[in-house]
Amino acid sequence: MTKKYAVGVDFGGTKVLSAVVNIETGEILASEKKKRKQAKEQDEVVSKICNTIDEALQEANVSASEILGIGIGAAGMTDRENGILLKAANIGSTNVKLAEPLSQKYGVPVQLGNDVEVATLAEKSFGAGVNCDNFLCVFVGTGVGSGVVVNGSILRGHTGVAGEIGHTTLFPDGRLCGCGGHGCLEAYASRTAIAKAIVARIQRGEESVLASQIDESKGIIRSKAIFQALAAGDKLAEDAVRQGAEYLGIGLTSSLTLLNPEKLILGGGLIESVPHYFETAREEIFKRILPITGSKLVIEKSVLGDYAGVVGSALLIVEQYSLHPEKFASHEVEAVSTI
Ligand SMILES: [Zn+2]
Repeated sequence: MTKKYAVGVDFGGTKVLSAVVNIETGEILASEKKKRKQAKEQDEVVSKICNTIDEALQEANVSASEILGIGIGAAGMTDRENGILLKAANIGSTNVKLAEPLSQKYGVPVQLGNDVEVATLAEKSFGAGVNCDNFLCVFVGTGVGSGVVVNGSILRGHTGVAGEIGHTTLFPDGRLCGCGGHGCLEAYASRTAIAKAIVARIQRGEESVLASQIDESKGIIRSKAIFQALAAGDKLAEDAVRQGAEYLGIGLTSSLTLLNPEKLILGGGLIESVPHYFETAREEIFKRILPITGSKLVIEKSVLGDYAGVVGSALLIVEQYSLHPEKFASHEVEAVSTI
């Protein structure tokens, strides 16, 4: 590989972050972030992404011809083959074509993947998963998602959705989940689930310092607010977080028993902002797991934080280069022939 830069795009629920990444070191040369606001339709979404890419390239003083390609990690369901964002989480966009227009504009291959998959790739190359061929990465925030690495490769599954750990069943007749099912792990262990449990308990008359925040934010409580309530010694917040973390531990024990990985890497808003949550989930796992599965299991936090999305997205294109180098060669020929 002669090119040493790629562009990574983190297309999230509220923002678009693009960065020029040194693919050998994971270093970010320049990045540009914009709020997504109303950008929902095809043209608006594409132009928003292009704006951030153009500015990041300019700031890094790198031209489009110097990059290997563009990787996009999107929060939502993606059609990898055709580079289409099928359904974006919390955004309302459907069937947005991303790979084709971006590939035409910049003259390089573009690869689309989901946000958890790219964060897992980033941990594998530059984070807690370095030198580890079998691990499970789980991210807990508004939902619970995971990336599975088996024998050094990301497991994608038959229809590309392997790792939807948040929708494994914890209780057959349990709480309604965002996916339409009942009793999913995500409906018990995510920040959204914990916030809902806190709100319900306050409404039933329990006391909490978070009571005043329910009206202000219409029932939505952020990880930071939960962290502040814990720091203030709020018993209800402590109890709800402990319960959520125990549910996570119970749910993950099943997956760990199935996969027998070397490491479990935990990341996301709740893990980063609420240390108590990580420790409790960890304890719950070691309480339940088969001794032979748990004997050499290492559980640790992800290390890349906010920039895992752009670095991992850039790595998506590196992965494509190693799998399908011919696609990159044809791009070079096309680019030359259009001059
Ligand atoms: Zn579900």
